[in-house]
Amino acid sequence: MTYPTQPTASHFIDGQYVEDTAGTPIPVIYSATGKQIATVHAATPAIVEQAISAARRAQDGWAALSGTERGRILRRAADMLRDRNHDLSVLETYDTGKPYQETSVADATSGADALEYFGGMAATLTGEHIPLGGGDWAYTRREALGVCVGIGAWNYPTQIACWKAAPALACGNAMIFKPSETTPLCALKVAEILHEAGLPAGLYNVVQGMGEVGAALVGDPRVDKVSLTGSVPTGRKVYAAAAQGMKHVTMELGGKSPLLVFDDADLDAAVSGAILGNFYSSGQVCSNGTRVFVQKGILEPFLARLSERLAQAVIGDPLDPETSFGPMVSEAQMKIVQGYIAKGLDEGARLVTGGRQIARDGFYLEPTVFADVTDDMTIAREEIFGPVMAVLSFDDEDEVMARANATEFGLAAGVFTRDLERAHRVVAGFEAGTCYINTYNDAPVEMPFGGSKLSGVGRENSKAAIEHYSQLKSVYVRMSPLEAPF
Ligand code: NAD
Repeated sequence: MTYPTQPTASHFIDGQYVEDTAGTPIPVIYSATGKQIATVHAATPAIVEQAISAARRAQDGWAALSGTERGRILRRAADMLRDRNHDLSVLETYDTGKPYQETSVADATSGADALEYFGGMAATLTGEHIPLGGGDWAYTRREALGVCVGIGAWNYPTQIACWKAAPALACGNAMIFKPSETTPLCALKVAEILHEAGLPAGLYNVVQGMGEVGAALVGDPRVDKVSLTGSVPTGRKVYAAAAQGMKHVTMELGGKSPLLVFDDADLDAAVSGAILGNFYSSGQVCSNGTRVFVQKGILEPFLARLSERLAQAVIGDPLDPETSFGPMVSEAQMKIVQGYIAKGLDEGARLVTGGRQIARDGFYLEPTVFADVTDDMTIAREEIFGPVMAVLSFDDEDEVMARANATEFGLAAGVFTRDLERAHRVVAGFEAGTCYINTYNDAPVEMPFGGSKLSGVGRENSKAAIEHYSQLKSVYVRMSPLEAPF
């Protein structure tokens, strides 16, 4: 594996890399070794100011282009992401620790899909003609919001950067993106590529920093919209701060999603779904189906097959294409997950497999499965964000639906069954924004993605995202004589 070209400075503003070493240094740690591979500096107030004024200056001109022109640049950037997929995937692996086997098919490629999809859609964004009485009519104009702020989590840094940039730019907005301080590198490469593809300076800026930099961006009156991918506690703060300025928001937050396995399910497919929904990216996926409800009759065969399959995981150097399971993103996240494993044991769950740190450099935990989990246990209620599956058992559909929905979260939910009617009845009953039948965690750009309840507001991807990056202006046109009472 060749080491990819690293970004050359901490921030990308107004079409170029910008450094300000007065900002707090943030070490970038490669989680497979625990070694520092780079340093970025948190944005100072001067950097935040530079980014906001660059975005403000550039936005009007961008919105005034035709959708076809904007879309062409996004689609060119999509092609460049695909052409450079190898290097970008290696960088994503260094940034997150996720195995190259995953990053080479799920990160820059998913970012490219978003840029291609919204690039194609840019030219189709129009208003509506509304005929009214007496020959009058109205029309709507679909207009950009202005300057959008994107704030990212650390699990999918390239994907999150693109999922927010693509619809924002397609609609004629400018964006300032703040990556997670844990994974600051990939978004800079996205910025570099967008500009190489022809994006005018100032329209996609990346600034680094912790929560306070995010908060400074959200609180600035020149910012019109905030899209956060993060945890529920951060979502509460950001939503509240955005409300002060009545700003538009998209909140992609955490979850504790249910995955139901009925006794008529294809057992191997259900085990695959549970593996994908708990151990992909070492379990660091917001929509994971971490409460796996298995119907009693197939509980032991399910656990046996699951253990057999988990024993086949190739755990090791994430840059080795054979590796299928890598480290946690950081030592801090590993410790949080270890705390949950200890709670699972303390509260009486049965450890089926895993549970330990792996004896090698870096932050590796074994894929872990608990059975005999009950609804009140901490590991069944709180988002763990690591490779820990909680298996619960159930008798019948009514009972499991009530238990599946008994959570404050509502990001995703899945069902494995061969009974078509039951599958659709069950998803209709799920209190969740993104549902799966006989699969788990697919997130194609064509399908809306997002949560209900505490898991979020708004949708990413698909035509639905356009609603969250544009606004309607209504225009009444009077053709008939206008009368007034006096
Ligand atoms: P986090 O909430 O700690 O941080 C998210 C981002 O918010 C970071 O960039 C952080 O610097 C920033 N931030 C923190 N405080 C802020 C403030 N007051 N104002 C503005 N910005 C602030 O989340 P994390 O630990 O990076 O990521 C894990 C969480 O993200 C999990 O809960 C996971 O479920 C969620 N997530 C959700 C989705 C989704 O699409 N629904 C996707 C990935 C991750």
